[in-house]
Amino acid sequence: MNYFSLNKSTPPVSFKDATIHGQAPDKGLYFPESIPTIDPHIIQHIEDYSKQALAYSIMRPYTGNTIDEETLYTIVSETIDFPFPLIPVSDNSYALELFHGPTLAFKDVGARFMSRCLGYFSHQQKEKITVLVATSGDTGGAVANGFLGVEGVDVVILYPSGKVSPVQELQLTTCGQNITALEITGSFDDCQAMVKDAFMDADLHKKLQLTSANSINVARWLPQQLYYFFAYRHWKETQQAPVISVPCGNFGNLCAGLLAHAGGLPVKHFIAACNVNDAVPDYLRTGIYHTKAPVPTISNAMDVGSPSNFVRVLELFQHNYADITEIISGYTVSDAITKQTIGEVYKKYGYTLDPHGAVAYYALDQYLQQHPKEKGIFLETAHPVKFPETVEAMTGKKIPVPASAEYLFTKEKQSVKMDASFAELKEWLMNRH
Ligand SMILES: *Cc1c(COP(=O)(O)O)cnc(C)c1O
Repeated sequence: MNYFSLNKSTPPVSFKDATIHGQAPDKGLYFPESIPTIDPHIIQHIEDYSKQALAYSIMRPYTGNTIDEETLYTIVSETIDFPFPLIPVSDNSYALELFHGPTLAFKDVGARFMSRCLGYFSHQQKEKITVLVATSGDTGGAVANGFLGVEGVDVVILYPSGKVSPVQELQLTTCGQNITALEITGSFDDCQAMVKDAFMDADLHKKLQLTSANSINVARWLPQQLYYFFAYRHWKETQQAPVISVPCGNFGNLCAGLLAHAGGLPVKHFIAACNVNDAVPDYLRTGIYHTKAPVPTISNAMDVGSPSNFVRVLELFQHNYADITEIISGYTVSDAITKQTIGEVYKKYGYTLDPHGAVAYYALDQYLQQHPKEKGIFLETAHPVKFPETVEAMTGKKIPVPASAEYLFTKEKQSVKMDASFAELKEWLMNRH
């Protein structure tokens, strides 16, 4: 399997090169040359397959001959080495909990897969790889944890000082070893702009082999298909294909679900659930796509004005608006409604939503009221303990810290403070070793 650039002015590359470079030289996102279909026998008898076997057969065509069979089996098995429960919440909706990984958010799946692939590929080359990534919260922790101790890979994470939650900050600043956290006096957008400037800088490229660990990297994006299949293993008893509601920011997660569907996974309809950063729901309503300046909300991992993976959604449907709107509906959910939903769902069903899951729950509920014969799944993308202030204010109950996260509070934060200045970042990257 090769990957072509969506800007179409550079030649296709292997999975290995797409992973090492992140983005094509023409700045396009990489996209698979064909969408592999899953053997229908696997879908029909999905409950007979282990998670590992399923994950292996789904990822195998995407990695092609760049990773040997045994190594790939080990990589996928380690990637998904935690539960993905499907929990009934209301009469017609289920939560697919994606927060049981080491950093309590769904980004663990992509980060663990990518780090292992990159670690494997780095053995084959002399130069050290430097992963540079900006985070609004969850990406940083997942990437830090996924890459910790991976030989041949150095990780530099930029995060906005004072703008991530306490658990998120501990997750990305306490690793040490090959992980460095840069605490930027500025916003997430400043961090992202600094990273973008670094990728464009000729001096840095000469000195370092730089790559990004955002969902534009195919090795982070593609494995996110897996949990849609895992959900279907538990869902199958209900017989009819589910409606799936995805809380969206950069649209990597939804686009992975669409890829799973294109490969043969039964799904009735997808919901793009957004907070007020709703460029895509706007497009779905009107057919016109306008990116917007990002607005801060309580579901902050979704505060994206110009979602980078949307071009992949367009490519998947060959830019056909009618086909896109037949399978995806968009919803815009305000902070006020998100908070109200957290309170109501807790009171009615005893289920604690995080702000991102609450956006997806509300959008699904709206859709199901219009389509009463359907049943659906919403993705719970983060553990509520990552957003304790918002959630506890609505439920009136303290959220216990899961045992797997308690150790964080015994660790000491280590960060390098830096102004929101690319010149400072460049100077630091050029002189650190
Ligand atoms: C990153 C993130 C999202 C958005 O996912 P995308 O793939 O960027 O659309 C949603 N919820 C949480 C908790 C996240 O961390």
